[in-house]
Amino acid sequence: ETQKETLGFQTEVKQLLHLMIHSLYSNKEIFLRELISNASDAADKLRFESLAKPELLESDTELKIRLSFDKDANTVTLEDNGIGMSRDDVIAHLGTIAKSGTADFLKNLSGDQRKDSHLIGQFGVGFYSAFIVADQVDVYTRRAGLAAGEGVHWSSKGEGNFDVASIDKPERGTRIVLHLKKGEEEFADGWRLRNIIKKYSDHIALPIELPKEHHGEEEKDQSAEPEWETVNRASALWTRPRTDVSDDEYREFYKHTAHDFEDPLTWSHNKVEGKLEYTSLLYVPARAPFDLYHREAPKGLKLYVQRVFIMDQAEQFLPLYLRFIKGVVDSNDLSLNVSREILQKDPVIDSMRSALTKRVLDMLEKLAKNEPEQYKGFWKNFGQVLKEGPAEDFANREKIASLLRFSSTHDASGEQSVGLADYIGRMKEGQDKLYFLTGDSFAQVKNSPHLEVFRKKGIEVLLLTDRIDEWLMSYLSEFDGKHFVDVTRGDLDLGQLDTEEDKKAQEEVAKTREGLVERLKNVLEEQVAEVRVSHRLTDSPAILAIGEQDLGMQMRQILEASGQ
Ligand code: ADP
Ligand code: MG
Repeated sequence: ETQKETLGFQTEVKQLLHLMIHSLYSNKEIFLRELISNASDAADKLRFESLAKPELLESDTELKIRLSFDKDANTVTLEDNGIGMSRDDVIAHLGTIAKSGTADFLKNLSGDQRKDSHLIGQFGVGFYSAFIVADQVDVYTRRAGLAAGEGVHWSSKGEGNFDVASIDKPERGTRIVLHLKKGEEEFADGWRLRNIIKKYSDHIALPIELPKEHHGEEEKDQSAEPEWETVNRASALWTRPRTDVSDDEYREFYKHTAHDFEDPLTWSHNKVEGKLEYTSLLYVPARAPFDLYHREAPKGLKLYVQRVFIMDQAEQFLPLYLRFIKGVVDSNDLSLNVSREILQKDPVIDSMRSALTKRVLDMLEKLAKNEPEQYKGFWKNFGQVLKEGPAEDFANREKIASLLRFSSTHDASGEQSVGLADYIGRMKEGQDKLYFLTGDSFAQVKNSPHLEVFRKKGIEVLLLTDRIDEWLMSYLSEFDGKHFVDVTRGDLDLGQLDTEEDKKAQEEVAKTREGLVERLKNVLEEQVAEVRVSHRLTDSPAILAIGEQDLGMQMRQILEASGQ
C-alpha cells in the first residue's frame, strides 16, 4: 500500500453512524440489502457508461455480485464488478454525505432512539449501515477505465476517521470486507445469507452468487476455486407479469429503487403496448423525505431503455407537483444514447408524461376511495405539494381537485379531511356554490364573523388555512360545474337560500337603516369603498368585506410582508 492517509469523517457522517448503530439494532440484517443495492447501482452505472465506451468492460462482461464468508475469521465479503470508485470517489462517497439539507435534518434528532430510528428511515441508511454488524470495514475498489495500479483501499472502524491507500487491483469493481462484531457471527453463514438475499434482494436484476454448499463425503478441496451458485431470481422485476410478483417483492424493489427505508403506501405497475411501448412501475412513498422542499432534492423516475439503466432522476416524466412519486420507467422507443437535453424536447416524452400523470392521479383516487385511512396519511405528507397541481396542470385540474382535502365547518377538529365530493354531498337544497374562507389558522378562521350567516343557514364552508391556499383558489374557479365563492368577498348572494319571509324582513331592515348607512359613509369616506346593510351577520354588528375584484386577505398579507 502506498500514499496512505487518514481522514476524518464529516460531522454529519459521524452523527449518522452513531445514530444508525444505536437505533437500527433490531433490524440489523438490512446492511446486506443496502450493500447489494449499491453493487446493483454500480453495475447499472457501468452498463450505462459502457454504451459509449465498450472498452470499460475489459474482458469481464458478466456483471454480478458475489457474496462469501469465513467463519474462522468472522468476516463477510461482498464483491461486484461494477463501476468501482476512484480515490476521489471513495473520499467523497464514503466520507461525506452530499445531500443538501443534511445538517438541518440531523439537528432534529432527539436522542430518543425510537423516534430517531424513524427519522433515519426518512433519511435513508446506505453504505454506513455496514457498521451495524461490523466493527471494521475494508473496501477495495478500482474504477472502470483506470489502471490496475489505481486501486484504492478504504478502511475504517466506524468511529471518527478512515484510512485510504493506493493498491494494485487487477479486477475492476468493489470488494467490501465486513469484520463482524463479536456476537454477529450468525452472518458468516451460507444459509443465513441466502435467506436474507431471498427476503430483501430477490428482485435485484443481476445474479447474486454464494459459494455452493458441499455436503457429506464430497469434502471440498480447500485450495480449489469455489463453485458458485446464483441465489436470487436475477431478472428485472418490472419486466415480470404483475401476477408473478408478490407484494413483498414490490416493497423490497421500492426500497432499493427509492433508497427508502420504509414500505411504500401503494404502487401501480403497467405495461403499455401499441404506438408507444413502455413499462412503468410507480410508487407513492409512505412518508415525505426530509428534503421534500429543497430545490435540489432528488426527484423523478429511474429511466431504463430496453432494460438498460440510463439515468436516475429523470424529471421529464412527471409534473413537479407529483415530484414525490418514485419508480421506474422502461421505454422501448427511446434511443440508448438519450440525454436529458433530448428528453426535454422529445414529443414521445410528452405523451408518456401525460399518460404517467393520469396513472398517478388514478392511483391516488383509488387509494382515497379504498383506503381512506392511508389516504389521510398521504395527505398529511404530500397534500401541500399536490395543491400546486391545479396551477401547473390545467388539463387535470378537476381530477386533482377531487383529490384535495380541506378543513371545513363540518369538522370541528380542524383536520384537513373534507373532499369536494363530500362537501357537494352535504350541500343545502338550492345551494349551487362552493363556499370557502381563507386565513392563517383554523383557530383564527373558525370564529370569523363571515361565517355567521352560513352557520345560521346550516351551510358548510371550507376553511383554507395553508399558505398556498389563496394562490391555489386563484386557479380553481369551479368543481363539478359549481363555482367557488370566497365568503369575504363583495355582497354574498345567498338569495335563493332565503325564504320569502326572510327577504321581506331584510328589506324592512334595510329601509330603517338608510340614515345610519349615510352617516357611516360620511365618516368612513376615506377608508372604505362602500357601506351596505348586510344580512350575513347574526352576532357581530359590522364586517369588513373585500371587493369582488380585489386581492384576497392572505395575498395582501404576503405582499405586505414582502414589502410590496
Ligand atoms: P446511496 O446508495 O443512496 O447513494 P450509499 O450510502 O448507499 O448511498 O452509497 C454512497 C455512495 O457510495 C453511492 O452513491 C456510490 O457512489 C458509492 N458506492 C457505494 N457502494 C458502491 C459500490 N459497490 N460500487 C461503486 N460505488 C459505490
Ligand atoms: Mg445505497
